[in-house]
Amino acid sequence: MSFSLHGIAVSKGIAIGKAMLISRAALEVSHHLVEIGAEEAEAQKLLKAFDQVRKELGKLRSGLPKDAPQEMAAFLDVHQLILSDPTLAEKPLELIRSQRLNAAWALTTQLNDLLEQFAEIEDPYLKERAHDIRQVAERVLKAIHTLQKEATLLADEYLHGDPEMGTIVVAHDIAPHDMLRFKENALSGFVTDLGGKTSHTAIVARSLEIPAVVGIRHASEMIEHGDWVVIDGDNGIVVINPDEHLLEQYRLQQEKGRAETKKLQLLKHTATKTKDGTEIRLFANIELPEDATQAIDLGAVGVGLFRSEFLFMNRVDSLPDEEEQYQEYRRCVEAMFGLPVNIRTIDIGADKVFGSKVETPVSGISPLGLRAIRWSLSEPEIFLTQIRAILRASAHGKARLMLPMLAHASEISESLRLIEKAKQQLLAKGQAFNPEIEIGAMIEIPAAALTLPLFISHFDFLSIGTNDLIQYTLAIDRADHAVAHLYDPLHPAVLNLIALIIKQANEAKVPIAVCGEMAGDPTLTRVLLGMGLTDFSMHFSQILLIKREILGVDISKLKADVQALLKTYEPESQIDLLGRISRH
Ligand code: PEP
Ligand code: MG
Repeated sequence: MSFSLHGIAVSKGIAIGKAMLISRAALEVSHHLVEIGAEEAEAQKLLKAFDQVRKELGKLRSGLPKDAPQEMAAFLDVHQLILSDPTLAEKPLELIRSQRLNAAWALTTQLNDLLEQFAEIEDPYLKERAHDIRQVAERVLKAIHTLQKEATLLADEYLHGDPEMGTIVVAHDIAPHDMLRFKENALSGFVTDLGGKTSHTAIVARSLEIPAVVGIRHASEMIEHGDWVVIDGDNGIVVINPDEHLLEQYRLQQEKGRAETKKLQLLKHTATKTKDGTEIRLFANIELPEDATQAIDLGAVGVGLFRSEFLFMNRVDSLPDEEEQYQEYRRCVEAMFGLPVNIRTIDIGADKVFGSKVETPVSGISPLGLRAIRWSLSEPEIFLTQIRAILRASAHGKARLMLPMLAHASEISESLRLIEKAKQQLLAKGQAFNPEIEIGAMIEIPAAALTLPLFISHFDFLSIGTNDLIQYTLAIDRADHAVAHLYDPLHPAVLNLIALIIKQANEAKVPIAVCGEMAGDPTLTRVLLGMGLTDFSMHFSQILLIKREILGVDISKLKADVQALLKTYEPESQIDLLGRISRH
């Protein structure tokens, strides 16, 4: 049967292919039957995983500091009890032995049964225990995967698309670190039930340059494995099992899109100047050092944002040490041949987790919690290690250090103190670095935008993280599809904050860029130019598109309309003004 679903368009283009369903992200497990005769070994694997988790919990329990809140000990005790309860292990062992299910499959089957039973319980205390059971089962699943020497929860068979056929991944949700793993594989597109336009999963999907639609509730339940799927990444539409006629129309649209992309390539060597002669600098956002090559190829004049946290994801059991980080940063800096590279220190938390055995701080899972610089300052040794690695890379090119999510003067002074300390440590060891390395701050919290003079006086450059600035100004979780319709870059409050930051930084002659997704959205280029922005940092796939927009603009003609836009709170007048701005 043919039907269509609507969601949030996050990565443009048309993709056509067969659906490959991936089960709920929290419990991504491969489903297969073990070979006849291998049942007992599989059962032993499950028992070993239980044992490993028992030891892990025991270690956590005995390692609790004396002054740790009592609830923490109680919490670990509950998890130990759940783990020891035969209900969790007995049934899966039986499923492995009698039906040859692989260990992870057997465990999730039992987990789902238990969760269903808990859903029917009225008592709120007991209902809450379902959460604990899920957490314990997830620990055991991780242990099973580690035993299988798998670094993450995604089964490898899912990661290899069929280039002949076109493969569309359909999932409830895909974590950013899992999305990153798709980089090496020939996949045609993504559809997920959850997610927002600037969630990190969406950002990585865009970096893969394949069409994606997120936030289609129940897509993973309605689409079946092997269905034909068309993703219209321009309009956020997903068509399942289209008829021949519709399929043909989409094929034509796909061809048209490819021709457009090819045409854009002609702009690669054109200088980025507006019609009135203003020079604009286009920088690239990257997740991994190898992306730098493409950034250069597409004419980026530097890396405006290197999201270093992606180096810390998908690790088996430890974070990269100083030497490993240094080599990666150096690789990136050298690939940019002396152009600036803003290495943003770890921004873990919110929708980005380590995705490995390394624990992500519980509080960091909230966008208002211990994420980014807050986490780094709470882990000074890890932070110092990263700073030293970045400093050492600065001996090989123009590495610059950029700090995310600052809001408080104390965070600024503490970060700068640690940078100074890292310099002293390197000096003591006789290791080379650029003592004049430029330090920058991301302005992505309204509090920072409204106290900009503080940042201007302490930093060499600033970069506006509009993704978070919008999230925190409008109180919208950027990864939550339920409020995605309220995530509005054109909200007058957002526009006024951005304009204020650009104006103050320009007056103080401190370089200012936008590195959030707004910089790569061609429908917003003119508005940002009208505010006086000259440095844009975006995913490299957007660079030529934005360049084409810039080449057609006369800034002097749109300034007055942009100023009027900033004073307009009525949606109708806003639409009128945006229409005028788009015609200048
Ligand atoms: C931003 O918040 O706009 C930004 C560029 O950082 P990130 O998307 O990694 O949070
Ligand atoms: Mg941010």
